[in-house]
Amino acid sequence: MTEKYDVIIIGAGAAGLMSAIEAGKRGRKVLLVDHSKKIGEKIRISGGGRCNFTNINTHPSKFISRNPKFIISALNQYTQNDFINLIKKHNIKFHEKKLGQLFCDESAQQIVDMLLLECQIANVTLKKEIIITDIDKQDNQYFITVSSDKYFCDSLIIATGGLSVPKIGASKFGYEIAKKFNLNIIETLPALVPLTFDEKILAMCQNLSGLSLETVVSFNKIFFEEGMLFTHRGLSGPSILQISSYWKSGDSIKINLSPKQDIFKLLGSKKNSNPKQDINIIISEILPKRLAYMICKDNDVRGNISELSNKLLKQLSNSINTWIISPTGSEGYRTAEVTLGGIDTNEISSKTMMSIKNPGLFFIGEVVDVTGHLGGYNFQWAWSSGFVAGQYA
Ligand SMILES: Cc1cc2nc3c(=O)[nH]c(=O)nc-3n(C[C@H](O)[C@H](O)[C@H](O)COP(=O)(O)OP(=O)(O)OC[C@H]3O[C@@H](n4cnc5c(N)ncnc54)[C@H](O)[C@@H]3O)c2cc1C
Repeated sequence: MTEKYDVIIIGAGAAGLMSAIEAGKRGRKVLLVDHSKKIGEKIRISGGGRCNFTNINTHPSKFISRNPKFIISALNQYTQNDFINLIKKHNIKFHEKKLGQLFCDESAQQIVDMLLLECQIANVTLKKEIIITDIDKQDNQYFITVSSDKYFCDSLIIATGGLSVPKIGASKFGYEIAKKFNLNIIETLPALVPLTFDEKILAMCQNLSGLSLETVVSFNKIFFEEGMLFTHRGLSGPSILQISSYWKSGDSIKINLSPKQDIFKLLGSKKNSNPKQDINIIISEILPKRLAYMICKDNDVRGNISELSNKLLKQLSNSINTWIISPTGSEGYRTAEVTLGGIDTNEISSKTMMSIKNPGLFFIGEVVDVTGHLGGYNFQWAWSSGFVAGQYA
């Protein structure tokens, strides 16, 4: 059997659904296919089940790409306010959690249902559990082969996402198609991912597992002031996830465990004002008790503060204000929220998301070399790039 569509979209995730809706609204005959049984699974599990669907502070500076300017056009064509208006139109209640991050009050499923309803209204044909065996071009038309059937189209949109969380459908399919059509790919790496450490730091993390605190975590000149969490596998929490997108293997990161206070200065004044106070007590007034005791033990400091040399106090302060550690790696794609790298943006028009070398072939969402910071930016990129492709496909 052969069938002809105006637009075929591969991948019914955030970006694919958005592009299908927009192309459908333009009266295009649209086929949206996914190999998964459940549509929008990543949306459903996102944001702890509440979906951090956008960020009111969306700005190109919140994204990582070899070409940071690439992002501007799509973000201007479809802004965070456009998506907020769509949410409002569907009476989905939402709130700002912090730092401009918008979450559903009730459930992420509401976003999936909203997108599916919009697809229905736009007459999009949605096919699930579709295994594509071939993609090619013939007489200016693209076609996909699904068992013995061929589906032809004028515009083919690749929205297969990144490599993170393979158990809910992530695949390298999009990158393979890009290679087939001679597009360059920027090396892919897990990002927004917990970091792992050698035995010594790991033992510390395991002892402190479950403990979280506000930190500033930095790598070179990039820093994030957010929560950090000790886990059984290493370090996690927003500040660590954020820095993981910048950290380079073999390098160290710097952690300020008490960003609001200059510990050396504080210990100096304590030494004068209360010389008999026990150092463990002083540190546990600054940091969570378990962490305070561990840091004092690691630095081999105990007893009254007056008995400790300034050199030792400086060393202790540094391990709180400037803790420098070298991750050995990350937890990888199994737990990464996103994939760094992807289709080289030099290969794509920022205005249309269409391949420059291959008219009619579009790439959108996470498969492209655009990675947002934590906080709703990745979905905003999916909505914006999906919208843009939907206007031109
Ligand atoms: C646990 C988790 C929580 C997250 N929380 C947030 C959050 O709160 N806010 C935020 O902004 N971002 C969040 N993200 C990131 C966000 O989910 C992604 O950036 C976004 O979903 C990317 O959209 P996409 O459409 O490009 O890809 P995806 O949403 O991954 O969709 C890709 C689709 O392509 C399909 N597919 C793959 N290969 C094939 C194939 N060979 N054939 C057919 N179909 C295929 C997949 O089944 C999938 O449906 C989270 C990610 C994870 C893993």
